[in-house]
Amino acid sequence: MNIAVIGTGYVGLVTAAGLAEFGHKVVGTDKDFEKISKVSQGIVPIYEPGLDELIMSNLKKGNLVFSTDLDKTIAEADIIFVCVGTPQRDDGSADMSQIEEVSRQIARNLNRYKLVVEKSTVPVKTSFWIKRTISLHKKTDQEFDVASNPEFLREGSAVSDFLNPDRIIVGVETQRARDILCGIYAKFRERLLVTNIDTAELIKHASNSFLAMKISYINLISNICEKTDANVEQVAEGMGLDPRIGGRFLKAGIGYGGSCFPKDIKALARIGEELGVDMSLLKEADRINAERVRIFVDKIKQALWILKDKQIAVLGLAFKPETDDIREAPSIRVIRSLLQEGARLRLCDPQASDNMKQLYPEEPDRLRYCASPYDAAEKANAMVILTEWDDFAKLDLKRIKEAMANPIIVDGRNVFSPEAVKKLGFEYYSIGRK
Ligand code: NAD
Repeated sequence: MNIAVIGTGYVGLVTAAGLAEFGHKVVGTDKDFEKISKVSQGIVPIYEPGLDELIMSNLKKGNLVFSTDLDKTIAEADIIFVCVGTPQRDDGSADMSQIEEVSRQIARNLNRYKLVVEKSTVPVKTSFWIKRTISLHKKTDQEFDVASNPEFLREGSAVSDFLNPDRIIVGVETQRARDILCGIYAKFRERLLVTNIDTAELIKHASNSFLAMKISYINLISNICEKTDANVEQVAEGMGLDPRIGGRFLKAGIGYGGSCFPKDIKALARIGEELGVDMSLLKEADRINAERVRIFVDKIKQALWILKDKQIAVLGLAFKPETDDIREAPSIRVIRSLLQEGARLRLCDPQASDNMKQLYPEEPDRLRYCASPYDAAEKANAMVILTEWDDFAKLDLKRIKEAMANPIIVDGRNVFSPEAVKKLGFEYYSIGRK
């Protein structure tokens, strides 16, 4: 069967290359022609470990091609994975215009039976709207099915998550759709959960919102730790030993970011409210997250008092390590606050600087991008850590201290051990521990 993947962003590229790796024939397409022309030549437009190799090897094998011809790709496909964006609107709900546009494109090219698979994260009941849109716009009486197959990959480990998933959720309403999707994922039969479509759609939003809540929960606990002698890392460790809780996603810090948690928790809150369900639990978790940056900037002020004209080294711009993605990264708001206070910034990130330059271009004496943390630390009055890249944990702190004007570290990700840095003569502030 011919598979089309529409939308070749973080999810679409991995999905296209991953399905090709499973042995299927895949065509990836996107309305961004520049993206397609780059990736066709093996130039992957995003940083994701292992993705270049996976795409190159499947391009060579001939399992994977990329095309700018959206209509032809849809017309020739039997199965269409929809991987376009579902960004946040001002009121917190998901903007479904890209999904609607693709639905109309599919309708125009419905020349034989097709299975349309929602891989994007969508509100429960989206399949109803996709079906309705295709039915309204199709020009033939060909049949089609819609199914939900939400994606759970994590940026930074997306390739291994896709090739070796914990679970695959398949939401279907016909036997035909069920057979096709179970066939595609045949090698993961024991990890497949087949549900109806509403359930599959909701599993994705419910999972992301739960994980976001878990992070806000430990961040709330870290606030108590800071007012007492408790240590949030040990509290998290102790909690995590209970298998009902589990130790993962209990890391206190400056809050969650990225293109998923912030928008998905808001979208689910909106969906619930529209259905008449009280969603205060999720709204509170999101509010706690929004507070994290203010609390962190207050810590920097606690260390430096007045920020005007202070030089600050900012280490970490990506919303998490091992990605170049800065969408909804807490760093964006930290940088904005520090600039508003009149600080001078030297920024450094192993992968995300180019993306951040689109938002914050270099400005003489005010904002500079540095190639290394040592360069960023030069004459700094303080160094702040916003992303827990491994490279930062391995820094030669003696060299950093020599470069800095004042040996002060404000660590938003608890990258260093307080004892070790204090022993080196740093004044050290971190999250939920002393
Ligand atoms: P993205 O913005 O990186 O990619 C979306 C792509 O769709 C873009 O390249 C865009 O040009 C393309 N596109 C938009 N409209 C189109 C159209 N009509 N025809 C063809 N192409 C079109 O987004 P992403 O991060 O890959 O996320 C995609 C979806 O997957 C979202 O719903 C997101 O919530 C979900 N998701 C994301 C992740 C993640 O970690 N990024 C993980 C799981 C699920």
